[in-house]
Amino acid sequence: MKHSYITEESESCPYCEGAGYFQLLLGGSETCIHCEGNGEQRSTKESVLSS
Ligand SMILES: [Zn+2]
Repeated sequence: MKHSYITEESESCPYCEGAGYFQLLLGGSETCIHCEGNGEQRSTKESVLSS
């Protein structure tokens, strides 16, 4: 049997658009909590690890 699905897909985070952070209006930046600063969209399948 062959597995044809891609396990490590690197999509840009839809919230920060792949930047990994948000630009604040007052200045500076804040790390995107959705991708934890990676800028990549994470699979929600294995999000059970965090307690
Ligand atoms: Zn993000």
